Amino acid sequence: QDTTAAFPPALDANEQILINSFDNTSISEWSYYYTHGNHIAGLNKTMAQWTADKWTEYGFASRLDEYYVFLNYPVSHSLSLTYANGSVHTASLTEDVLEEDDTSSYPDRIPTFHGYSFTGNASAEYVYVGRGQQVDFNRLEALGVELEGKIALAKYGGPFRGLKVKNAQEHGMIGAVLFVDPADDGNMTEAKGIEAYPNGPARNPSSVQRGSVQFLSIYPGDPTTPGYTSKHDSPRADKSGSVPHIPSIPISWVDAQPLLQALNGYGTNGTDVNRTGWVGAIPGATYSTGVGSGARLSMSNIMNDTYNPIWNAVGIINGTNEDEVLVIGNHRDAWIVGGAADPNSGSAVLIELAKAFSALSETGWKPLRTIVLASWDAEEYGLVGSTEWVEEYIPWLKTAAISYLNIDVAVSGPIPDFSATPDLHRIATSTMKKVVYPFHGATNNTLYDVWTSISGGEIGVLGSGSDYTAFLHRGIAAIDMGAGPGPNDPVYHYHSNYDSYHWMSTFGDPGFHTHKAFGQYLTLLAYHMSTDPVLPLEPEDYVPELRTYFSDLEETLASYEPPAASNSTTSSPTTLDLSALESAISTFATAAEEFSALRAQAIASNDTALLTVTNHKARDFSRGFTSQGGLPGREFFQNLLFAPGLDTGYAPVTYPAITESVTFADDFDRAQLWVGKTAQAILVAAGMLRT
Ligand code: GLU
Ligand code: CA
Ligand code: ZN
Ligand code: ZN
Repeated sequence: QDTTAAFPPALDANEQILINSFDNTSISEWSYYYTHGNHIAGLNKTMAQWTADKWTEYGFASRLDEYYVFLNYPVSHSLSLTYANGSVHTASLTEDVLEEDDTSSYPDRIPTFHGYSFTGNASAEYVYVGRGQQVDFNRLEALGVELEGKIALAKYGGPFRGLKVKNAQEHGMIGAVLFVDPADDGNMTEAKGIEAYPNGPARNPSSVQRGSVQFLSIYPGDPTTPGYTSKHDSPRADKSGSVPHIPSIPISWVDAQPLLQALNGYGTNGTDVNRTGWVGAIPGATYSTGVGSGARLSMSNIMNDTYNPIWNAVGIINGTNEDEVLVIGNHRDAWIVGGAADPNSGSAVLIELAKAFSALSETGWKPLRTIVLASWDAEEYGLVGSTEWVEEYIPWLKTAAISYLNIDVAVSGPIPDFSATPDLHRIATSTMKKVVYPFHGATNNTLYDVWTSISGGEIGVLGSGSDYTAFLHRGIAAIDMGAGPGPNDPVYHYHSNYDSYHWMSTFGDPGFHTHKAFGQYLTLLAYHMSTDPVLPLEPEDYVPELRTYFSDLEETLASYEPPAASNSTTSSPTTLDLSALESAISTFATAAEEFSALRAQAIASNDTALLTVTNHKARDFSRGFTSQGGLPGREFFQNLLFAPGLDTGYAPVTYPAITESVTFADDFDRAQLWVGKTAQAILVAAGMLRT
């Protein structure tokens, strides 16, 4: 593969039309529309309809797909600190209203709360638990800290927030309070002399990260319909395994400051806890565990639990090949009136993408493959809209989907980032060379240049946290993309009121030039996926990745230390025989090579019937990597190659059933069983490439 990209990029006539259709001013207009209205899940039908109407205007046949799902909305909440001497401090639990954010004057400004949080009160002593990951709790237990009956005070960052609440609950804690910490804001902090939003790019001290506390690594989607679609009359399952039973509240660092300070000097000092990410940067806080402080928290979190309709807008252009479908999606719902980055930078891009395809259609172009645009609702509660849709259309998607392209936060800063299944790596990379990408004032780079020099030039492994999840776990090729801030870029106020149009147009992406570049990228990718006679999926590119995951697994096993108090008998195995997996990878490598040769032959001899055969193999083979029953204890997650980590929620684990049978269950017998099943899945994929 070329390591350089021509500048300016050389484009063919169709690519040129698509690229030229992009206009940063109209993207800004779409962004303005989306960021001025309540678009919390289930309350945004106007926006769903507006989206569908726009797509219709640009030649897509559009409709709304409705589901009926469990949701909850905030009623009231409170938090107060009672010091050992009896004096009381009450937390504000509100974000400052800013004139600059014209959205802040909306009567439907959304309170700071956690989606799917538990209604209840808790009053108890509290413990600072770091990032609230299992390793953090293990450390607290090793330090002899009593957790039962206490409230957890945890820092955001690291694992998905719902897992912090889950871990607290599983340790017998009765409530959880989660705060953002300026330590995670790189160099853009007030402590380093940078002014806070709205006057500057540092974090506004009152900003709060809302968000779902669903137990994402168990299953996404509506918590009451695991694995099947959620309609009015759908049977409802017990949701207690996938949402918390203890109340939780998100707070700002300013509200967290007195809570942390009241623990100073009690229990183990933060630095002595000796865990990465434990100590933050809130002034005057030692991040001590707090044992014996005598300080107590009283919290109340009242939610209205309800079933509501949600709406996915869906827009379709039929291709000539009816059995080949490309799905492109972005969620529309946000926690706030704004949502300029999350998710509406992606929403604005999808409108402009539809416009570009309408310009191309005027030349008589028709896609070979059907293009489906999706504007998902209720992503924020737990990927609900996309998961219910996949659960409804799975028979069709299993046979016809060639890929799912996801764009959630298209832009929250300038640094491009991509994660994808390996078969998409090649087209994802070559398309980067076709887009001019503005970066820190320079305009003479391609996206590829910036991605290789600034982002490190590696496409990541998909974990979870956005709408590609349901597709990926049914064996469909998928990619997720977006650009975010580095340590010297303006702070992105994730899930806060300050993720506003004003923030975006002043700090995040003035002029919407990064939006435009990402839109051009996604559009060219969609164009080639839908139009190239040779479907641009590369099974062979799985081979080096499967080998990397294999050596990662060997390393995990080599450095694995069984839990100290392991009661396993001496006869339990503590090693794994990975030869079946290794040999399956070799078989797959041979099959992929044969596939490439067959496809080259189809191309060379212009044999369209054979090309259809090879295109279908490329479309289908990755279904082989899934297992009907899913991973141990989590039926939804069927992909045996990658999954969100049980205790990360966002970050991926490769060969998850094998890896986590060891690292989470210390069960080598079970791990050995999954070596066999994972190898078998890889052989099934190899077989699909062959026959
Ligand atoms: N992207 C959202 C978040 O990180 C939702 C993720 C989920 O619930 O699966 O909060
Ligand atoms: Ca469901
Ligand atoms: Zn999002
Ligand atoms: Zn979000």
